[in-house]
Amino acid sequence: MELDERESIESGSHGHLSQLASVGQIAAGIAHEVRNPLTAVKGFLQLLQQEAQHEYIDIAQSELENALTTLNDLLQVAKPDLEDEQNQAIFLTVELESILNLFQDKLYDIKVITNFKNPNVSIQGKKSQFKKAFFNLIKNAIESMNGRGTLSITHECINEEVIVTIQDTGVGIPEEKLSLLGTPFFSTKSEGTGLGLAQVFSVVYQHGGKIMVESKKDQGTTFIIKMRQESQLTQKGVKELSLYYNEGDSIKDFFLANQKPFEERLLVEAINVRDKIDEIHNIGNINLLDNAHKLVLYVVEEQVHELISLAKQEGLAWAKYSVTLAFKLEWVQAIRRTLWDFLYNFDLLSKTESDRESFYTLEKNINELIDQFLTNFFISYSKYKDELLEQERKLVEHLSVPIIPIKEQICILPLIGQLDQQRMNTIQNNVLNEIETNHIQILIIDLSGVAHMELEASNSFIQIIEGISMMGCKTILTGLRAEIVKNLISSGIGLIRQAEFKGTLKLALNDVFSLKD
Ligand code: ADP
Ligand code: MG
Repeated sequence: MELDERESIESGSHGHLSQLASVGQIAAGIAHEVRNPLTAVKGFLQLLQQEAQHEYIDIAQSELENALTTLNDLLQVAKPDLEDEQNQAIFLTVELESILNLFQDKLYDIKVITNFKNPNVSIQGKKSQFKKAFFNLIKNAIESMNGRGTLSITHECINEEVIVTIQDTGVGIPEEKLSLLGTPFFSTKSEGTGLGLAQVFSVVYQHGGKIMVESKKDQGTTFIIKMRQESQLTQKGVKELSLYYNEGDSIKDFFLANQKPFEERLLVEAINVRDKIDEIHNIGNINLLDNAHKLVLYVVEEQVHELISLAKQEGLAWAKYSVTLAFKLEWVQAIRRTLWDFLYNFDLLSKTESDRESFYTLEKNINELIDQFLTNFFISYSKYKDELLEQERKLVEHLSVPIIPIKEQICILPLIGQLDQQRMNTIQNNVLNEIETNHIQILIIDLSGVAHMELEASNSFIQIIEGISMMGCKTILTGLRAEIVKNLISSGIGLIRQAEFKGTLKLALNDVFSLKD
């Protein structure tokens, strides 16, 4: 997919930088002046609220909060350097994963497909701004689909260029509007601020990247972002660290002797995980630092078996205690970089100074082992999550067929809600199994909570009654509504011979309790 970038930018978003400069500069000037008094108002409102509760104060506060958010967004677009954030290595796959997590509850019927290649490749830049930009893009994509569709996100590195695409199957953007994208305040949404894409374009351009849009009305939109890969040199940083080394130490000795500096270095690399270490330890008794040492030793000693079993164990713990996945990714990537630094230093200190070729081989092996760790971690993580889902599904199914014993060998099955084919299958299964295990003799099925039954489901229902009878159990049907009776009649009268009918559950219970034991 080699698009001519200039073409594409021209047709999509020509002149964004200059537009941003003019509109943005004026707006930013105003925003700055307006923000200060509003912040003061916010403070006074808080004071007021401490003195007396009033719903108007709440409303005023939340409206003010909205206004301040808009102002801050605007300032970010126009003067992103106001918040001077350090450039750092950004692993976009990690960030994308964690942003997707934020949207979990907004996805409804939206299918998310991610295809992340080359996760080890980083870009250089201001991390919080990139996070915000991808947040804005994903938010737009989700909003464009009205709760139904497919969101595909890809990441890969081609010719030292990191390419991220965000594709939706939403409403699309009409061709005549394409050139307006990224203009501050351009929005087609009633509640939109039109600042999201402006921020995205601004961040990408400020970092020397490219952005392209492809869109077809009613079919969907794809945003393609291209950034330079962080160069191998800056990425590796080749930090000369002061580490302990004794003549003749093996790699393993070296790592064992330098556990403390390793931890320190790792904590610098894993900025976002650093503050979570205690929390994670408390939640799931997962000791990240200990595990990092283990992983590193398995890697340098090439103990594949142990490595895989550690990965599986961690994947399970992570899933069990629902620790955020993004932390794991960031943590392992940080281990990878730290490990690399240490090996480099080992190479310097031991003066074996292996030739370039064998150094590359070493790097390749190590990367492969860490990838293997991640893969196995994810497999075990998702396996556990899948099993959990399956268990929950079973529980719900069970709850939807509540067979309640009321007397020895007599049970009630009150059915409520929609009875479709799927549910009929579940009912059939559970009912027949329960009759067998608990030797049920009489099953009272109460249908007063069922307003409607599809014709297809009526047929299945009759089959269930027949099945119950074949197992030597008697069915008493209660609470049938006229509409359901009509459907049952047109499905065939056969069941009358198999079942007994009572107008209400109460009548049936009277009968049952007057039975002699
Ligand atoms: P907002 O979301 O507040 O409207 P944005 O700057 O994020 O502002 O987006 C501007 C406009 O661009 C949106 O109102 C919408 O019309 C259009 N747009 C952006 N992304 C998409 C998308 N993925 N699909 C369809 N339209 C989009
Ligand atoms: Mg938006």
